[in-house]
Amino acid sequence: MKTIGILTSGGDAPGMNAAIRSIVRTCIYNGIRVMGIRFGYDGLIHGNIYEMNVSSVADIIQRGGTILGTARSDEFMTDRGKQKAVGILEDFGIDGIIVLGGDGSFRGAEALAELGVNTMGIPCTIDNDMGYTDYTIGFFTAVETVSSAISKLRDTSSSHGRANIIEVMGRECGDIALYSGVSSGAESILVPEVPFRIEDVTNKIESGRKRGKLHHLIVLAEGVGRAHEMQGQIEKITGVETKVTVLGHVQRGGHPSSYDRLLGTEMGSKAVELLIQGKTSMALATRNNQIEIIPIKEAVSIKNTFNQSLYRIAQEVSI
Ligand code: ATP
Repeated sequence: MKTIGILTSGGDAPGMNAAIRSIVRTCIYNGIRVMGIRFGYDGLIHGNIYEMNVSSVADIIQRGGTILGTARSDEFMTDRGKQKAVGILEDFGIDGIIVLGGDGSFRGAEALAELGVNTMGIPCTIDNDMGYTDYTIGFFTAVETVSSAISKLRDTSSSHGRANIIEVMGRECGDIALYSGVSSGAESILVPEVPFRIEDVTNKIESGRKRGKLHHLIVLAEGVGRAHEMQGQIEKITGVETKVTVLGHVQRGGHPSSYDRLLGTEMGSKAVELLIQGKTSMALATRNNQIEIIPIKEAVSIKNTFNQSLYRIAQEVSI
C-alpha cells in the first residue's frame, strides 16, 4: 500500500473532517502518500484529486462539513462511470480508497471493490440509519443541535402556553427524533417506526392542560409526514395554539461533538491500519463501544433496527 485516496460522499456529517485528518496523519506517519478526492464519486470520475500533506488537515478537527466537499453522482452509477473511476485511480497510482458516507456511498465502494479496488468504508451520516453499526459519525452532533433548539422553543412555548411541533431530519429513520426528544424532555415523539393516532397527541395536550402544563413539545421525524399538516389538526381538536419549526439543514452543520471527533479519529486510523494489513472491502462499525469491522457487502444488507427500549422509556417519562 503506497498511496491511499479519501473521498466523502452523500450528505455531509459533522466529524467527517476529524476522520479525514486522522486518515491523512496516519498515512503520513506510516510513510504512505495520501490523495484527497474532491466532491465524492463525481470528483473521482473527473480526476478532481490532489495530494494532501500534514498541513492540509490543520485546524479542521473542530469544523463541521467536509473540507473535501461532497456530491451525489448519477454518472458513477453507470458501468461506464465505474470503469472510468477505476481508470482514474490507476492513473493517480491510488492503491486503496477510504469512503466516508452513508448507505449509498457504501454501495459505491462495494461496486469498486468488485472491480478490484481496495476499499474501506467509514459510516458518516447524521441520520444513524445504518443497521450494522450502533452509531454513525455525525449523529450525536445533530442530536445536540436539535436538543438545544428544542430547549429554546420550550422557553417561548411555556411563556405563551403553546404547543410546538419540531420537524427534524432522519429520512425513514426516527433516531434523531427519538434521541433528541428524550434528551430535551419532549412530550410526544413521532417516528416512522411506530404507528400513532393524532388522538395520542391531542389527548396528552389536553390532560397536560388540565394539570396546569404550559407547553407541549412534539418532535416529528420527517419520515412521518409534514408538520404543517399536523398543526391544523391539533389546533382544531384541542384549541391550543400550535407553532411549527422545521429545523432543516441547520441539523447538518456545527462543531462536531467530542464523540463524533473521537469516532472519526479512531475509525480513520483503523481504516488505514487495515489497508496496510492488506484487508479490503470492509466497513468500520462501533458496536458496544468497540470499533469492529464487517464486509461492506454485509454492512449494506443489514436492516436498521429501532431502539424500542428507549422509545418505551420516552413514553413512560413523558406522561
Ligand atoms: P446519506 O445517507 O447522508 O444521504 P448516502 O451515502 O446514503 O448518504 P446517497 O445519495 O445514497 O448518499 O449516495 C451517494 C452517492 O453514492 C450517489 O450519488 C452515487 O454516486 C453513489 N451510489 C449510491 N448508490 C450506489 C450504487 N448502488 N452503486 C454505485 N454507486 C452508488
